[in-house]
Amino acid sequence: MRNSTAKNANLGGLERDPEAGARAAFLLTQADVAVGLFTMDGRPLHLNMAARDAGFAAVPSLRDKFAEAELFDDLLIEANQRGSVRRIVRLMNARSPSWHDITFKLCRDPETDEDAILVSSLNVDALKKAHDQAELLADRDQLTGCYNRAFFTRRIDEVFQPEATSEFAMVYFDLDRFKYINDTFGHEAGDAILCAASQRIRRVLPGTDMLARMGGDEFVITLMDVSDREELTRICERVRATMAEPVEYEKSQLNVSFSMGATTVPAGAKDPDKYLRQADIALYVSKQAGRDRCTIYTEEMGYAANERSRLENDLRKALKRDEFVLYFQPRVDARTGQVVSAEALVRWQHPARGIVQPGSFIPLCEETGMIADLGHIVLKKGFDQLCNWQHGGLDIGISINVSPRQFMDERFLKTLDDLSRSVGFPEGMLELEITERVLIGDHDVISSRLRRISELGFQIAIDDFGTGYSNLTHISRFPLDCLKIDRSFVSALPTSGPIVRLIRTLSEKIGARTVAEGVEEEGQAQLLRDIGCEQFQGFHYSKPVPAKQFPSVAADINRRVSVLSVAR
Ligand code: C2E
Ligand code: CA
Ligand code: CA
Repeated sequence: MRNSTAKNANLGGLERDPEAGARAAFLLTQADVAVGLFTMDGRPLHLNMAARDAGFAAVPSLRDKFAEAELFDDLLIEANQRGSVRRIVRLMNARSPSWHDITFKLCRDPETDEDAILVSSLNVDALKKAHDQAELLADRDQLTGCYNRAFFTRRIDEVFQPEATSEFAMVYFDLDRFKYINDTFGHEAGDAILCAASQRIRRVLPGTDMLARMGGDEFVITLMDVSDREELTRICERVRATMAEPVEYEKSQLNVSFSMGATTVPAGAKDPDKYLRQADIALYVSKQAGRDRCTIYTEEMGYAANERSRLENDLRKALKRDEFVLYFQPRVDARTGQVVSAEALVRWQHPARGIVQPGSFIPLCEETGMIADLGHIVLKKGFDQLCNWQHGGLDIGISINVSPRQFMDERFLKTLDDLSRSVGFPEGMLELEITERVLIGDHDVISSRLRRISELGFQIAIDDFGTGYSNLTHISRFPLDCLKIDRSFVSALPTSGPIVRLIRTLSEKIGARTVAEGVEEEGQAQLLRDIGCEQFQGFHYSKPVPAKQFPSVAADINRRVSVLSVAR
């Protein structure tokens, strides 16, 4: 038999003074905390009012109150080991379970001196639900309700475990032309699309898979237990098909698509970044192949991507080391055959590879933004060459290609402004060739930009005309000096005759010259002359040549014409 001090200690250290009994009874009966004394197998011995109200008397054993009965056993074991235990658990009420903050304390029944459990329990249902909601919000993207990047990163570290036994797959994707939709219809339209997209995807994904929004319009899906490429393709296609129907936004039907890249991850893989990068490379391949598709990563893509990043590095160095030179291709007057100007075409003088053609580096420069620097260099060099020839008595103009990205760059306008102020600026002799792509977008912005350039004394030509989607009604509002008929129409003559005629009529209407590109034979020149094209450029006259060679090439062409006309 234990002494009374021990008993008191077990009852929470209450002193045995006469008043304490009454107060203790008062507290016990009136408190909102449910308190009860139970036998070791959970039978109630005594319950306070709150405990009875909470239905602790209605069950034969406390174990039956637990929504997860095994938890009762766990708590009991732990209490036995440590004397007491506290946990947030779900207890059954009349119908549904609710969350309780419950404490088990081992003690002895003061009446029988048998081992007993002193249980106190407080209903924390509202608090717990608020807490869970907060936790849920922290893990979720506020807009779409998908998991957010922070959650994804945490979760992916759990999935990438050396001891993991199952394979899985990751899919990286984004919305095609999302920026365009944001710019054209506003950010709310963009938000509506993001929400619709994630809702639709969640509907087709099995429950174990995780959809996370990584930011902007980028999403990742992890597909557990998927290792088979065919299955992966099937699931990706199902996700892609969710965008087959347009998204409705304020009575507009917005058509969007996904570009996707996917990769499989072997069991026990350790490096999440490696596989995310693989999925990203595959996504890049989808974009390059024309968007709205899914690509599964292969080793070859990895090599190509490495090659790309090597090229990018080399290009950055080349910009610093000034490895770019200009070649010039003559443009001749259709009637007189005389050289009237030259198109500057950039070449990369690679220390090991020799002369590299623009086709193999301009696209990458565009993509990475390096085009702004390269374009700046070309503009400067072209301008210097023009002044140089003008001084030397070679009175011809120069055309310089301007990429869409460079056109929108603020520095570009500033450079033009500077050039136009330089001493001896040959007004009207420098032409800028832009593509139709530049003309798509906010027409007021583009129009005022073009006007500004024109007012500074530069000519404006549309390159590769007929291959883009320029809006013919807008074209007349732009200050254009020249339309360059794309090479493809010239090589398709005489079949393409009607199109060439159409372009010629259009340029006449807007007061611009027509230049035919890629003229390779006299026959083509004759047809083009008959249609009324004013100027020609092409291998029939000369290939692009280094600046040094150009004067003699031009002189040859001019001489050839005069010999011909004398012969006639
Ligand atoms: P582009 O502006 O359409 O230039 C004409 C291209 O057609 C040149 O190729 C030229 O060599 C080629 N060409 C000219 N006549 C003929 C012909 O009779 N037959 C055939 N088959 N081809 C002909 P290049 O020099 O390789 O330039 C390719 C493209 O690279 C250019 O197309 C232009 O879009 C871009 N590019 C070149 N230099 C620059 C530059 O400084 N800045 C920018 N942004 N792009 C440039
Ligand atoms: Ca051009
Ligand atoms: Ca062209």
